[in-house]
Amino acid sequence: MKISRRRFLSMSGAIGSGVALSSLGLDLTALKAHAAELNKTDRIRTARQSTTICCYCSVGCGLICSVDKLTGKIFNIEGDPDHPINEGSLCAKGAGLFGLTEANEHRLRKVLYRAPKSDKWEEKDWDWSLKRIARLVKDTRDKDFQTHNAKNELVNRVETIGHYGSSNIGNEECWTLSVACRAMGLVYIDHQARV
Ligand code: SF4
Repeated sequence: MKISRRRFLSMSGAIGSGVALSSLGLDLTALKAHAAELNKTDRIRTARQSTTICCYCSVGCGLICSVDKLTGKIFNIEGDPDHPINEGSLCAKGAGLFGLTEANEHRLRKVLYRAPKSDKWEEKDWDWSLKRIARLVKDTRDKDFQTHNAKNELVNRVETIGHYGSSNIGNEECWTLSVACRAMGLVYIDHQARV
């Protein structure tokens, strides 16, 4: 019977745990029963699993999402050992993907604003935030736009605004954003995939 690398790793973990427990010579029946309820490995084994791709960069590492059949919620995300690109490994960003799910109660859900020189965060709504960003971009561009550099060469640029892109957006959105940034004269345009 041909087994996948994922299945092999799963079986190895189960066999290894059993050998370690029995070698202690202790009756751990009750403890084992309780652990079986809680053990994440067991939950993963019985979960509905689906494969997907990390959203963060163009490497495109493969992931396995485990969904609890009872709650319908994701409870684990890990690298896919059968994926030809990453073979189960993930960088720190990909390994932290579970933190983006609703299981992370500390994830960012609302706009928090800290006024200049203040040490307090204030909750704001999205309309307020978008207007504030637009105002600051417009004012900064009006003030700092340069048509020529020190050598009198035509540059038409603004160097005091930067744009930092996200891998959570698609190709078309990336294209639209870079065109909009360049139309405003931005030269500092970067993407988090380079970090
Ligand atoms: S961010 Fe990391 S885990 Fe995600 S695709 Fe890129 S290298 Fe892979």
